[in-house]
Amino acid sequence: MTSTSVAPPTPAVPRQPGPGIDTDRVADLISQLLVELGEDPQRDGLAETPKRVAAWWNDFLSPDAPAATRFTESHLSGQLVVVGGMSVWSLCEHHMIPMNLQVAVGYLAEGQVVGLSKFGRVARHFAGRLQVQERYTRQVAEHLAGVIGREDVAVAVRGVHLCMSMRGVRMEDARTTTVHKGGRFLADPVLSQDFLALAAGQWGAR
Ligand SMILES: [Zn+2]
Repeated sequence: MTSTSVAPPTPAVPRQPGPGIDTDRVADLISQLLVELGEDPQRDGLAETPKRVAAWWNDFLSPDAPAATRFTESHLSGQLVVVGGMSVWSLCEHHMIPMNLQVAVGYLAEGQVVGLSKFGRVARHFAGRLQVQERYTRQVAEHLAGVIGREDVAVAVRGVHLCMSMRGVRMEDARTTTVHKGGRFLADPVLSQDFLALAAGQWGAR
């Protein structure tokens, strides 16, 4: 790469709900929940559980803020960049049960490239909250459009929802795919096909 200069920082992401929760209070509530579930929160195996669960919530709700770095590449024009194979865990807001999201993002590089590791941070950032896959897909796309300053962004997400496989209809093989396309990805069917082929090619067997 022949990066020469770093572009000005992009606007900060709005503060997400959750970080900085009162972990003592949450631990107390978990302890009460255990009692309601017929458990004895004092018994050996459970004694530290409320604290652990509270610490996990705090962790889950505090992923790194994705400050994006852009590098000038003045000769680049319209190059398709696809970053796939990103796997994040989130929580379905309807059931508070985990969902695993495999994420692929694509954009058109025009005179600038986005630092590749930032895509992973963005993918994690929007997963660290109560979510639905459809909104997650849109939030990642809108954030990246803000980073590159154009709408030429596509995001494809394939989700495994434990709320579908461990409860309810119990369909373990069900996969949900969501795609958000903007700008030239919407206008150009060939570009859209190229992106989807590359995105799907990086999805694991799961
Ligand atoms: Zn659900």
